[in-house]
Amino acid sequence: PPLLEMRGIGKAFGPVVVLDDVALSCGAGEIHAICGENGAGKSTLMKVLSGVYTPERGEILIDGEAVRFAHPAEAREAGIGIIHQELSLLPYRSVAENIFVGREPSRGGVIDRAALRVRTLDVLARVGSSIDPDVECGRLSIAEQQVVEIAKALSLNARILVLDEPTAPLDSVESAKLFKLIDELRRKGVALLYISHRMAEVFDIADRITVLKDGRRMAVLPAAEADVDTVVRLMVGRDVSDFYP
Ligand code: ADP
Ligand code: MG
Ligand code: MG
Repeated sequence: PPLLEMRGIGKAFGPVVVLDDVALSCGAGEIHAICGENGAGKSTLMKVLSGVYTPERGEILIDGEAVRFAHPAEAREAGIGIIHQELSLLPYRSVAENIFVGREPSRGGVIDRAALRVRTLDVLARVGSSIDPDVECGRLSIAEQQVVEIAKALSLNARILVLDEPTAPLDSVESAKLFKLIDELRRKGVALLYISHRMAEVFDIADRITVLKDGRRMAVLPAAEADVDTVVRLMVGRDVSDFYP
């Protein structure tokens, strides 16, 4: 079975159906892009996967086994890491403290600062980062904060990593660096779910593309066989020439 499978996911907020019978799979070493217009349900689907929301219908399988997440911590324990659109690091805490909050190495009942620093350098090396473990996260650029969040997820043994519109706040150089990191993680066997509505980058990095529209899955396409026109048409449900006459 694929590392991750979601089947028949249904989610409503009150009377508003936001996800209707959505399926998604992602294998180890795959980059699976999820495309859709604003409001298509991309973030909600990922919040279902990461235990933020409980779906009314459907199931999630990891390595073919059904799992249920009542809380984000349970998804984390199952190996799911999510980089939300709104980053969640504590700005006045150091990189080391943010990565290891609640699981700091200790000695004689107090945090072992030297060991914490070593562990943090080790985790940062896995994402090719030379950020100082002792710097406050609020002093980092958004791109650096994303890298810290990715490092944190990996340190928690994430095998499935979700990135929700990560390039939205990045410039092109920062985006290129992130793509390089994502590609390296793919080669290490991480399953990557990559949410974006930027078509060009999706075709560059993804193996497959799932298109959502109004909470429904319109298609899942191999990126190599898809083209921008097709994906945009599926996203908006209209002919692209309506937009680019
Ligand atoms: P996307 O990430 O594709 O832009 P979202 O998953 O954020 O879309 O939202 C899908 C739909 O669900 C939108 O219409 C949004 O307004 C609605 N929605 C998302 N979260 C909530 C919520 N907590 N309560 C009510 N409606 C929500
Ligand atoms: Mg949105
Ligand atoms: Mg979103």
